[in-house]
Amino acid sequence: MLKEVPTHSETGASSSPRWLKCPGSVRLIRKLKDNDPSYNDSGFPAAEGTVAHKVLSDSLELGHLPQYYINSVIKSDGYQITVDQEMIDGVTLMYDYVESKTWCADKFLIEKKLRDKKYPDDLYGTVDCCIVTDYETDSSTLEVVDFKYGKHVCVEPTSSQLKYYAMLVAQTLDRPVANFVLTVIQPRYPHQKGPKRTISLSAEEMQSWIDNELIPGFLETQNENAALKIGDWCSYCPLNTTNMCPALREYTKNFDATLDLRDLTADEKIDFLTKEKAVSKFFDNIRKDLFKDAMNGIPVTHSQTGEGFKLVNKRSDRIWKMDYKDPETGETLAEKLESALGEKAYSPRSFLSPAQVEKLPGGKKLVTKFAYKPSTGFTIAPLSDSRSSVRPPNDVFEEVYSDLETE
Ligand code: SF4
Repeated sequence: MLKEVPTHSETGASSSPRWLKCPGSVRLIRKLKDNDPSYNDSGFPAAEGTVAHKVLSDSLELGHLPQYYINSVIKSDGYQITVDQEMIDGVTLMYDYVESKTWCADKFLIEKKLRDKKYPDDLYGTVDCCIVTDYETDSSTLEVVDFKYGKHVCVEPTSSQLKYYAMLVAQTLDRPVANFVLTVIQPRYPHQKGPKRTISLSAEEMQSWIDNELIPGFLETQNENAALKIGDWCSYCPLNTTNMCPALREYTKNFDATLDLRDLTADEKIDFLTKEKAVSKFFDNIRKDLFKDAMNGIPVTHSQTGEGFKLVNKRSDRIWKMDYKDPETGETLAEKLESALGEKAYSPRSFLSPAQVEKLPGGKKLVTKFAYKPSTGFTIAPLSDSRSSVRPPNDVFEEVYSDLETE
């Protein structure tokens, strides 16, 4: 029913959150791919996302409801992916939103490959959906709607990826656009603002981003000596997955865990913590490599010190032998437990969690009305985190205290 789908570009929109922060990564990734042409950095989540996008574009273009594709098996990046109900529900959220907008659209694009007019070989991307309204007027609006099927990395509408798409679409129009609306629909990532998030930008704000961030950032990737910069974005860099980033290697090699915290300035502490994710990925990769050795019977103990690791069973909780039958009496597990413990064999009836209820018909309304997030204290998170920052409790305390004093 559906065919295999293609992949992405070097300085394309989807990788811009990485290369705008670390321009040197483009040169190194190119080298990695040149040295190993079979190298493929698209893991299962990327393949799954590609398939979800394929279901979406086929639904919108061919006029089927997403449900039509349930249980289809689609090949992507070497994986065979079955379209399950979770994928259909996610795609339907995007499908319904886009369908609700088409009636007022003067122009409407779906899964459109676009190239930049000035740098067509380098700046390009595939826009999931774009809707232009009031096209002939001074208040024309261009809305980019980006579908994200990933559930681990939150994408906000402020992402460079969406602005990049908006720029590419605007270049195809023969009239200037007055307003830009950027919308992300990310059905599987739990976000306090819900799965649909939107921001607006004026034409001036968009132009300023293109002139001051996108184009200079892109030109810097072409500099042979472009800098490598470690940060959160390393989590989705192919060089981190293979431990081939010289900047990260240098950093981890020189990492001094004996530093006295009292000698560090606030800036130094912040600098350490912003690199935490990138460095922990390095350890994850080492763990995966040693696990592979252990599974293949290769010893993972240190040749000099004898310290190291061993292959063990994963920890698990005991579970009941559900298919048990007494060989003499034929009694089942349930009958045995009930006759021994009576009602005490059962746990009291309890509600499904809000996340489970949300997946049931009508569940979303119930969760919106009756569920809430209790406060579990404070933590610090990167500035890019989707949660809003809160005032320190001491501030609030002091304010109430000073109010009381002046009364
Ligand atoms: S791992 Fe991080 S620092 Fe290294 S090239 Fe990739 S993004 Fe840049």
